Amino acid sequence: MPKNFNTIKRYLTDEEKFEEALLEYNCERFVQIKPVYIYPEGYHEFTPEEMEHDDEITQKIYEAEMNDDKAEADRLRELLTPIGPMPIINIEKTLELIPIEDRQYFIDELNKDSYEETVIMKCLKCDFEEEAPYDIIEECWMDGPYPIGYCPHCDKPKFVPLDIYNKKKKK
Ligand SMILES: [Zn+2]
Repeated sequence: MPKNFNTIKRYLTDEEKFEEALLEYNCERFVQIKPVYIYPEGYHEFTPEEMEHDDEITQKIYEAEMNDDKAEADRLRELLTPIGPMPIINIEKTLELIPIEDRQYFIDELNKDSYEETVIMKCLKCDFEEEAPYDIIEECWMDGPYPIGYCPHCDKPKFVPLDIYNKKKKK
């Protein structure tokens, strides 16, 4: 279907491509290959207390957003435990754990220009906006010149790609 709106394309890093390939590969195996990670300086392992604390805060942020209290949501976000740098998969070391006859699959995946595609959706009714994976939006796109979904904020069937939103609001 031709697109009357822009999407955002981001090319995956080698580490992301490799991790995705490993997920796929593990789906078809009884014995899972566990990836080897590199833990960057400043890496922080979450304690159970921190996870519980963050869950509570996240719930409160959700409630504040539902009440359109942006200031409170921003204040609460400051209370979340800083995530810090994420561990990075060690491609070379992980590849060594994979049976030799299966390694070519990973090398082929690394050679692909894989990307993720997203689209910013905005509600014509309440202005709520959210970046969503394009394949999910496309799946719900039945017919017509552009996809329309239900807004996660006000529940009205008025959720459209940002470009369409801008076009309609200009009129
Ligand atoms: Zn809405």
